Amino acid sequence: MMKTYPIPMVPGPVKLPQTVLDVYQTNFGSADLEDEFLELYNKTEFNLKMILSTKNRVVIQSGEGMLALWSALKSCLLSGDRVLAVATGVFGDGIGDMALSIGADVYKIRLPYNETISDMSEIEAAIVQFKPKMITAVHCETPSGTLNPIAELGRLKQRYNVPLLYVDAVASAGGAPVLSDEWNIDLCLGGSQKCLSSLPDMAFLSVSESAWDIIHNVNYVGYDALKPFYKAQAAHYFPYTPNWQGVAGLNAGAELILNEGLVNSYARHETVAEFSRNKIIKMGLSLFPASDAVPSPTVTAVNVPDGVDWPEFNLQLRQHGLVVGGSYGPMAGKVFRLGHMGTQADMKLVKQALNVIQDVVEKI
Ligand SMILES: *Cc1c(COP(=O)(O)O)cnc(C)c1O
Repeated sequence: MMKTYPIPMVPGPVKLPQTVLDVYQTNFGSADLEDEFLELYNKTEFNLKMILSTKNRVVIQSGEGMLALWSALKSCLLSGDRVLAVATGVFGDGIGDMALSIGADVYKIRLPYNETISDMSEIEAAIVQFKPKMITAVHCETPSGTLNPIAELGRLKQRYNVPLLYVDAVASAGGAPVLSDEWNIDLCLGGSQKCLSSLPDMAFLSVSESAWDIIHNVNYVGYDALKPFYKAQAAHYFPYTPNWQGVAGLNAGAELILNEGLVNSYARHETVAEFSRNKIIKMGLSLFPASDAVPSPTVTAVNVPDGVDWPEFNLQLRQHGLVVGGSYGPMAGKVFRLGHMGTQADMKLVKQALNVIQDVVEKI
């Protein structure tokens, strides 16, 4: 049991930078009453638009990434609406199940969890036959350590006039290019606790004009509803009291990356990811993603060595001060992950982590 980590490598929540921690020391007033909050919200929206490369509006909600995932599904889908869920991992599969649970007619294209989207012909055929209202996909499949190419999916959405493309970019936004407009994404979802290095308390999503039309039509009512956000800024009337510290923390995390420069942030993530992969292979371990899959620059998934008990391995890493992530679903107990995202995409930290792994591996 550990309250704080000497060498934090969990793929979210990540280590907070001081500028984000500082924000939580302020006794802000009521976000419902003060113009300063509205200014902060607008500025944060502007910054998130840059990170998501979009001209579309960005809604900022109180809650973690999962909130945006539910919010976009419930606000855009009616019972019986057709959803094509592209699943290359736990989140992609889960999003399909979430859509099913709210009454959508879901067609899943499932790939092995160590693969990324490559052959578009099956997806194209499914779009033609199934005529979905929405395509769902995950950019970075965090439990698999993979990064799906989204551009081609966006071209198919455009070619076949699919009303909505929904992309979970929670674990990539800020750490890898997320080109929402270029890729024709209608709903691009993000969270605060991954590459933006903030607390697990905020979710955000870009919403295209056509998505807003659908949202008005569906008229979903609930705590996670998007519709009230359409006029929230113009009227300074939010559907619930906004979390001022949360928005300020998210903005501080976003500004850290924007001040660094998006291109520099992407390069920093790619450099530590490549370094990690090379080092892992050099020490005789193997990567979880298949050789033809695209590994994510924000998280590296490694196979637990054959014959090694994960809880025991994990305990030894922790005894050396290193805390990594395990994995989920079929990878549970078989895969561990280095979350080099946000503040943790730091060469010094990553080297420390890999040295610990090497020491523990040599001992067993
Ligand atoms: C972290 C993450 C989320 C959000 O999950 P939380 O449990 O709210 O942190 C969603 N999608 C992906 C791909 C993620 O990595």
